[in-house]
Amino acid sequence: MNENQVINVSELDSKFADEVISYPGGEHLRKCFACGTCTAGCPVSEIDESYSPRRLIRQILFGMRVEVLTSAAIWYCLVCYRCFAHCPQSVNFPDLMRVLRYIAIREKYVTPDIVQRISEIDKRVQILRHDLIKYDVTKQKD
Ligand code: SF4
Ligand code: SF4
Repeated sequence: MNENQVINVSELDSKFADEVISYPGGEHLRKCFACGTCTAGCPVSEIDESYSPRRLIRQILFGMRVEVLTSAAIWYCLVCYRCFAHCPQSVNFPDLMRVLRYIAIREKYVTPDIVQRISEIDKRVQILRHDLIKYDVTKQKD
């Protein structure tokens, strides 16, 4: 969804936001007033300007079910909780992402092998981060 995107009203799901809200973590979704603080401090948004927690929340509220559940963006979140810590409305965006991933898997918008692949990528990234930090800190002592 960008500034000029045309929304097809017939494809919207008016119950989508309520469904997301019904899961733990979704409670404060409707309190979002689109201030953008979440996007401004997000490490993913820092490297990908098209990634916007604020926009994803608007899409959920608009009922853009298929667009959200088929989006790679719901898998980009690192679940670091930085956005939640700074949100003035206590919107728990990382837990919202967990809800969206759960629904996407349940409704087969993503295949199990893709989910497995994402899990492997996360593990490899963590190993790389761990080893690079260990190398730098250890080297500094030499
Ligand atoms: S910081 Fe909170 S209120 Fe502001 S756009 Fe993000 S979720 Fe909405
Ligand atoms: S929890 Fe996700 S959306 Fe929020 S700041 Fe971290 S990476 Fe960004």
